[in-house]
Amino acid sequence: MLGKIALEEHFAIPETLADSRGFLPEDYWPELSARLLDIHQRRIEEMDRHGIEMMLLSLNAPAVQAIHDVKKADEIARRANDFLAEQVAKNPKRFQAFAALPLQDPDLATRELERCIKQLGFRGALANGFSQSGTPETCLYYDLKQYWPFWEMVQKLDAPFYLHPRNPIAAWAQIYEGHPWLLGPTWAFGQETAVHALRLMGSGLFDAYPRLKIIVGHMGEGLPFSMWRVDNRNAWAKTPPKYPAKRKIADYFHENFWLTTSGNFRTQTLIDAMLEVSADRILFSADWPFENVDHAANWFDTASISETDRLKIGRTNSLRLFKLGNE
Ligand code: MN
Repeated sequence: MLGKIALEEHFAIPETLADSRGFLPEDYWPELSARLLDIHQRRIEEMDRHGIEMMLLSLNAPAVQAIHDVKKADEIARRANDFLAEQVAKNPKRFQAFAALPLQDPDLATRELERCIKQLGFRGALANGFSQSGTPETCLYYDLKQYWPFWEMVQKLDAPFYLHPRNPIAAWAQIYEGHPWLLGPTWAFGQETAVHALRLMGSGLFDAYPRLKIIVGHMGEGLPFSMWRVDNRNAWAKTPPKYPAKRKIADYFHENFWLTTSGNFRTQTLIDAMLEVSADRILFSADWPFENVDHAANWFDTASISETDRLKIGRTNSLRLFKLGNE
């Protein structure tokens, strides 16, 4: 399919590059680091070869979210956003941007979001899970009340917010002890991000700000598969759910969430996600440079779905969500 738009596509600046080291065997590092630092050459070639018209770019992970020195986190976020704005300006038809945010401090994050959307023309924000703030052990999730003024601004700006994975800190990862292969994209990324998304849904955040638009990658981080069970466990015991939100979790999942195909190129999984949230809420993505563009595109272009749905997922849903102009 030509004209695809992809939106979980990463780059690095020198200050954040090392965060992507260690997920692959060391002999892949020269290739991965070159992919991360490139914007206008190899990336464009990959896009041209595989029918991708535009990428919405975001910083690698965990980057800003793992910088517990708040001032430093703010400084790196601003530097990355300024750099990204310059790159987008060189080729705005092919690249648009997600803001990196110093969510260590909700006020700083709110200010940087506003700057990125209003002054730099960014299309939304992408955060790599919880933020470590003040100390490495202080992990802040964004359902916490101190973030609600931030979310008010996200809604006011109508900025889609991409909740991207990261690993849990070591102190919170006992379940993976002795099984390091389960960390990262294999399992821990999805687990961590799904729980964070559930926290947002159960907190009542979407009752207060019903027009928030949250994007999660990897075909929903397992959430579509589990959505019925979340709302219907022990249904014979007629007890109200023990969370502050007013409605069923699935209601928020259906109304406030969009899913991308990043790093999860499996038709069975896509069909499940389509049945849960509809083809109107799924968006094509690769997860370059951690996944290959050809793996994403060759699978998506031939997946057994209708051409109507392929066009929505591959292109028109993103045009609408990010207000990218004429369809
Ligand atoms: Mn990613």
